[in-house]
Amino acid sequence: MNRTDLLRYKRKLNLAVRNLESSLAANFMELLTPRDSNPVDLEERAEQDFEQERILQVCQEKSRRYKAILRALARINSATFGQCQNCGKGVGKKRLETIPWTEFCLRCQTQCDELNHHRLEAGRFGQRLKAWRRFLPRLEREGFRRRCRDL
Ligand SMILES: [Zn+2]
Repeated sequence: MNRTDLLRYKRKLNLAVRNLESSLAANFMELLTPRDSNPVDLEERAEQDFEQERILQVCQEKSRRYKAILRALARINSATFGQCQNCGKGVGKKRLETIPWTEFCLRCQTQCDELNHHRLEAGRFGQRLKAWRRFLPRLEREGFRRRCRDL
């Protein structure tokens, strides 16, 4: 990857970091804002709980992306940006343009999504182990499985 492209991605990622930081800060303020302490009816209370739960989920999602962006910036510094973290091949330019913090090429990402999907389904039906055994031989590297879990 040439220097101009790298600098462009770096700017893009730094901007994304700043945006996420301020939107996370706003979310935290929302969460910290004291609730209405006047007696509220049960329905209102349930709505408040639901809203808090929703904000927490949004925060978790943002924080996962935040960490992924920081890892992408670290890859720029270690000159491995744009390489798939599983197979080592180059990530497609179109994919990098859309998701510059992506860790995997499309092929490995698909495998990772499948793995997560199977894990979810397996958990749902209490057959986690069975699905894992069926699926694991396709994914050889421990690092890949670990990263999939972190996503
Ligand atoms: Zn790959």
